[in-house]
Amino acid sequence: MMKHIREIITEYMGSLISKKLDEPEPDIIIEEPKKELCVGCYAETQVDVGTHIDKRLHYIEGAGQLCPECWGKLCEKKTEKI
Ligand SMILES: [Zn+2]
Repeated sequence: MMKHIREIITEYMGSLISKKLDEPEPDIIIEEPKKELCVGCYAETQVDVGTHIDKRLHYIEGAGQLCPECWGKLCEKKTEKI
């Protein structure tokens, strides 16, 4: 005899819930907001991880976050080219 679909779903949902209960609760660690690292020199920047790119300073789309020093160097190079 085929199981009723609702029975199958209930069993499935039950197995999901029991699985979740078996997993240990992750420890909640409150961390200091992390700072983005410069993609040029890996120095810590003043930009918080998670800051929207529109609100970031020294951020290059497609490249990443730069520190003011690397940004300056890059801008120098750019102006040299021009
Ligand atoms: Zn840098």
